Amino acid sequence: MGFATDETPSLLIDFLQKCGGYAVIDGGLATELERHGADLNDPLWSSKCLISTPDLIKRVHLDYLEAGANIIISASYQATIQGFVAKGLSVKEGEALLRRSVEIALEARDVYNDKSSTGSWDVRQPPKQRPILVAASVGSYGAYLADGSEYSGDYGDSVTKETLKDFHRRRVQVLADSGADLIAFETIPNKLEARAYAELLEEEDIKIPAWFSFNCKDGVNVVSGDSVADCASFANSCNRVVAVGINCTPPKFIHGLILSIREVTTKPILIYPNSGETYDGIRKEWVPSTGVAHEDFVSFVGKWHKDGASLIGGCCRTTPSTIRGIAKALSNRPVNTTE
Ligand SMILES: [Zn+2]
Repeated sequence: MGFATDETPSLLIDFLQKCGGYAVIDGGLATELERHGADLNDPLWSSKCLISTPDLIKRVHLDYLEAGANIIISASYQATIQGFVAKGLSVKEGEALLRRSVEIALEARDVYNDKSSTGSWDVRQPPKQRPILVAASVGSYGAYLADGSEYSGDYGDSVTKETLKDFHRRRVQVLADSGADLIAFETIPNKLEARAYAELLEEEDIKIPAWFSFNCKDGVNVVSGDSVADCASFANSCNRVVAVGINCTPPKFIHGLILSIREVTTKPILIYPNSGETYDGIRKEWVPSTGVAHEDFVSFVGKWHKDGASLIGGCCRTTPSTIRGIAKALSNRPVNTTE
């Protein structure tokens, strides 16, 4: 059973309270799978592993939980029914793989919880379990196209809001009933797609809350050129959206982006930047050596939290050690100061 709509806005507020005012989001999934040897050179990208190596996905989820993540995001970013059908699967099989992506994350959470509750010497007082949410990832239409348009936000004139709604509708329905706690709409490249998602959530009466996370190209605009303030302000107006923010954007832009977003929203702000390296959408590879070192990324975390971000993690090319660093930086932040 999902959450009643009138409770939806409070889900994340309650969760953040339980976590102590902030939550750690996990780090890059696909790039971490690759680091473990998975070959993701495929239009399905990380979703390919749902078929080939589901245990490896679970391993990476567990690595992030052990590193301190409070929110793990399913391997469905590039999993679409249309993409699976193009691979020769049936619609039913595609839907089953979407569900499987969430089940794998739920199983990882169970394994983690079991592990952390054994070894308690006092049976009267079981150890306090860290609150953990499972978010079902929904990548943009451009992620399905796998032509780099998620990094330009330019879908051309023939793609309308209705096109996008029809494209995402069944996937969102399936993920909403998969047992996930919320839906993470990630790497949103333009306002049009955010509007399509918002209408879908209403039309389909989706019972679990959602977050909207935009992909920015500088400190002011999402990748399409729409202003981030405009996009965040729109997200703020959506009842079913419980947090708004930025992902897969270089760390150097995050400070300015948080300042713009906090002007237009009362919802929790989430950020999970990439490592700062650049993705070449044509060659489909990361261009090395322009990124920030892991230590530098983590050194920004206190500032981002002070700026107003309460959900912080990493996107592409970040690893469990980045997430461990973020968790540590946030837990070490000064308390009881008058910020
Ligand atoms: Zn990313």
